[in-house]
Amino acid sequence: MFSTKLEYIRENNVSQTMEHILRRMLIDMPDKPLEYIHELTKSPVPPQFIIAGPPGSGKEAQCQALIKRYKLVLISSGELLRKEVSAGTDFGKLAEPYMKNGELVPNKLVMAVIRSRLEQDDVKEHGFLLEGFPRSIEQAELLEAEGITPHAVIILDVSDDEVIKRIEHRRTDPATGTVYHLLFNPPPDDDAALWDRLVQRAEDFRPAVEMKLKTYHDIIKQLKTYYGPLVEIVDGEQNIKNIRKAVLAVAERRRLK
Ligand code: AMP
Repeated sequence: MFSTKLEYIRENNVSQTMEHILRRMLIDMPDKPLEYIHELTKSPVPPQFIIAGPPGSGKEAQCQALIKRYKLVLISSGELLRKEVSAGTDFGKLAEPYMKNGELVPNKLVMAVIRSRLEQDDVKEHGFLLEGFPRSIEQAELLEAEGITPHAVIILDVSDDEVIKRIEHRRTDPATGTVYHLLFNPPPDDDAALWDRLVQRAEDFRPAVEMKLKTYHDIIKQLKTYYGPLVEIVDGEQNIKNIRKAVLAVAERRRLK
C-alpha cells in the first residue's frame, strides 16, 4: 500500500495531525496532557482551507462546491470588509478610504476583521474556507500567529491568456447588473434591446485585467513560498465538473481524519 514510511506520513497528513494536537495543547496547556489528547481526538477536526484563483477562474463555483460538501463557512476578506463599511463600524470607517482607492487595507486591520469571524461558533464547528486572505507572507504570518495553519491551500490554475479571453468577452446589462459572457453565457438571441444595452465594464478592459493578473501572480508567489507543501494546484481550465471533482478530491485527501 505505502511503499515507504515517509509516503505513509505524507498520504495521511500525519505531520499536520500532530501539529494540530500540539497547537491545541499549547493553547490550553492542560495539566494532564495524555488525557487531554485522548479527549481532543474524540471529536473530528473541522476542515480549514484557503482558496485562491485569478479573476475569471470560476473560484466562486468551487467555493460553493466545498461549502456544500463540508458545510464550511466561507470567509472572504473583501466581503467581510464591505460588510463592515456598509454597517458603518469602526473597522469599516478605518478600511473604507483604502478600499475606495483600490489599495490594500493595512494588515492588522484585515486580520482583526478575519479574527473576529474565525472566533465565531459556526467556524469552530464546521471549519472555514478563506478567500482573499492571506495576500502576502506578512498576512500569512499574522494568521499563523493566531494559531491557524490551513490543511491545504487550493490554487486554481488558469493561464493569463485564458483569463484575458474569459474576461474580455464579459458584457454587463447596466439595467439589471447581470453579467453575460459572449461565448459561454450569451444573452438570448431574440432580445435585441438587451444586446443594444450591453456594455463592457472598465474593470473588464484588458489593461485593467493585466494589472490584476500582475498583482495576483505576486500574491501566489508569496503563498507558494510560505505554505510550500500545503499548496495544491488544480487545473482550472478543464470542464467545470472535472474542476469540481479535483477540488473536492484535494479537500478530502487533505482534511484531517
Ligand atoms: P476583494 O473583494 O477581494 O477584491 O477585496 C476588496 C477590497 O478589500 C480590496 O481592494 C482591498 O482594499 C480590501 N481587501 C480584501 N482582502 C484584503 C487583504 N487580504 N488585505 C488587504 N486588503 C484587502
